[in-house]
Amino acid sequence: MTRVEYIIIGHGIAGATLAAELRGRGRQVLVLDTTQPDSASRVAAGLMNPVAGKRFALAWRAAELLPAAAAFYRAQEQRLGQQFFFEMPILKLFSSVGEQNTIIARSADQPWQDFVADPMEPLASRPGVRQELGGLQIQHGGYVRVQELLEALAAEGEQAGWLTHETFDWTQLVAQPDSSFLYADRVHARHIVFCEGAAAIHNPYFQWLPITPNQGEVLDVACAGLLETEVLNKGAYVVPLGNQQFRVGATYRWPPFAEGTTPEARQELSQRLHDMTDQPFQVTGQRAGVRPAVRDRKPLLGTHPALSNVHIFNGLGSKGVMMAPRLAQVMADWLEKGVEPWPEVNIQRYLTLYSPGPAATGPASPASCS
Ligand SMILES: Cc1cc2nc3c(=O)[nH]c(=O)nc-3n(C[C@H](O)[C@H](O)[C@H](O)COP(=O)(O)OP(=O)(O)OC[C@H]3O[C@@H](n4cnc5c(N)ncnc54)[C@H](O)[C@@H]3O)c2cc1C
Repeated sequence: MTRVEYIIIGHGIAGATLAAELRGRGRQVLVLDTTQPDSASRVAAGLMNPVAGKRFALAWRAAELLPAAAAFYRAQEQRLGQQFFFEMPILKLFSSVGEQNTIIARSADQPWQDFVADPMEPLASRPGVRQELGGLQIQHGGYVRVQELLEALAAEGEQAGWLTHETFDWTQLVAQPDSSFLYADRVHARHIVFCEGAAAIHNPYFQWLPITPNQGEVLDVACAGLLETEVLNKGAYVVPLGNQQFRVGATYRWPPFAEGTTPEARQELSQRLHDMTDQPFQVTGQRAGVRPAVRDRKPLLGTHPALSNVHIFNGLGSKGVMMAPRLAQVMADWLEKGVEPWPEVNIQRYLTLYSPGPAATGPASPASCS
């Protein structure tokens, strides 16, 4: 019999950061993860961008989330002897005079000032980049090779015995009289934490939470004519992956959407890349994944209203790479010390949507299973 404090379901960026955080606090964990090459975390370009969108909005809690993320990824690099985090400027290319005016005006103020290079400095010419309307450099961002990081962590976990590649089976979870769990007659756990990404819409304990899956696609392209020292951004992003390879992303599609990649997304992303460069490129790959988006665009952390040892860490939407490391600390503080998660992410904010019923009764008790 394996005895752990926590079973974690899912090893995307949410489960991986939480497992690392709890293990770092000396806790025994067991992670169960379905091998799913197109999970959101594995498809993501891994961009960390503190300011984004047409309105040039500062990302929620960027000043706190970004340094925590950078510290987490650097710590994993040191431990595992492999580079995952590529800190590099993001070149925001203006798409209209209106956008140019808005962004330049905004970037003179705090807190934007901390994240942009001097907006009055004329933009130096970049080979291959269409920059007729100019642009400005966003600092302190970059990208993370998420797939490589998760693979390295999973390999470590498999070897050390704290991760297995298997699909969690609801029928195998049996509640014990002291609120702990027995899973598949072989694992005894005090707590279970669900980090299943968009698959959480099938989770019988948390179906009441407003998770709306959002499908996204990315293209991998080979392009010899672009510099590999900054990310380009104009309607889409172009992330340099080394060896003249780039990832272009991403599309957003709400349900209903077809599974897998589509010719429409390929065309849309190719067009957006054409808008940024006059250099020829060749599409070498296309992938689709599903983001765990939430109605109010904020993550979901907390404990089931009726099951004190059943928890969720999810809802990372389109910014999981930047948010997960700090939120894993927030989640661990809740689990370990009872420090309430921030109100913006606490699932308590959706409590009015919860109604006790068959879908939320929790795992079978030993009596009902025998
Ligand atoms: C095309 C695209 C591009 C993106 N680009 C970026 C980007 O540049 N920057 C950024 O920050 N974010 C980006 N995102 C968003 C980011 O990918 C998500 O925020 C993040 O990956 C969500 O992580 P997660 O761990 O919650 O979910 P997931 O990555 O989906 O991981 C969930 C894991 O749980 C496993 N699982 C589910 N159910 C079970 C079960 N029953 N048993 C066992 N295992 C289970 C799955 O196999 C999976 O491994 C992008 C997303 C997409 C789709």
